Amino acid sequence: MPIFPGRTVPTHTVDLHCHSTRSDGLLAPRDVVARAAARGIGVLAVTDHDDTGGLDEARAAAQAIGLEFVNGVEISVTWNDRTLHVVGLCIDPQHAPLREGLQAIRAGRHHRAERIAAGLEEAGIAGSLDGARAFVTNPELVGRTHFARYLVRQGYARDVHGVFKKYLTAGKPGYVPHRWASLEQAVGWIKASGGVAVLAHPGRYGLRSFERDSLLERFLSVGGEAIEVITGSHSPDEYALWAGCARRYGLLASVGSDFHDPGEGRREFGTLPCLPAGVKPVWERF
Ligand code: AMP
Ligand code: MN
Ligand code: MN
Ligand code: MN
Repeated sequence: MPIFPGRTVPTHTVDLHCHSTRSDGLLAPRDVVARAAARGIGVLAVTDHDDTGGLDEARAAAQAIGLEFVNGVEISVTWNDRTLHVVGLCIDPQHAPLREGLQAIRAGRHHRAERIAAGLEEAGIAGSLDGARAFVTNPELVGRTHFARYLVRQGYARDVHGVFKKYLTAGKPGYVPHRWASLEQAVGWIKASGGVAVLAHPGRYGLRSFERDSLLERFLSVGGEAIEVITGSHSPDEYALWAGCARRYGLLASVGSDFHDPGEGRREFGTLPCLPAGVKPVWERF
């Protein structure tokens, strides 16, 4: 799928990770595209969590304004009892194993949501399942962000980040361990559908150096090809760290804001630096 035949793509106009109302973003797919374009993005992948249902709308909006669009998804994965995210780029959303795999992950989210609500209830917060559902914008996709938005409205914290810290992360009352897809499954579905598997925001997982090495080795061995080096979730130190890893392991490098909503400064279109020298952009592989 040569989407950039014979021309160089300026790094600062590429954004290969963002969310719409199809998962836990606050803008409809067409509005995500319009916002990205208005902020100078010329190549965009929409990567909703475990769901590809927003891609047709986003692609049509992108075509209408001449923005290059890349089909994407962000798959929830469990590796070594940890949750990781794997982005698939240039996927075929119609590919049956990918569709079925995502469908199973979404189904698992319902049961998880019930357990999150039960944990919150024990902490004295009743009715959070119905409350979270009122914030859900895709009936098949309920996540912690929807609980967080409800809890903010109820006054349990000042913002979504505060709710995560107090209630929704490991050790807190609304946190429940959950088994997502395996790394091998997620990468396998992406590749079989014609896509490129990218390890999302690797700096977010709190990995020690030996875990970093074993994750990257495992990711490569199951067919992973790229990691996000520049992401709205990394600090400048992490840009350098993960660029070094990309070079050492021969992984391609990706760029993505992880935009979810207009209120979040650090994850906004058009605010990221370019890829550091010496890494190979993932879009050379498209
Ligand atoms: P889930 O897939 O339901 O576990 O939700 C994961 C999503 O929660 C991520 O994609 C982020 O959008 C959001 N999230 C995770 N941690 C935080 C945090 N500390 N602050 C704000 N949002 C977060
Ligand atoms: Mn999210
Ligand atoms: Mn993520
Ligand atoms: Mn994301």
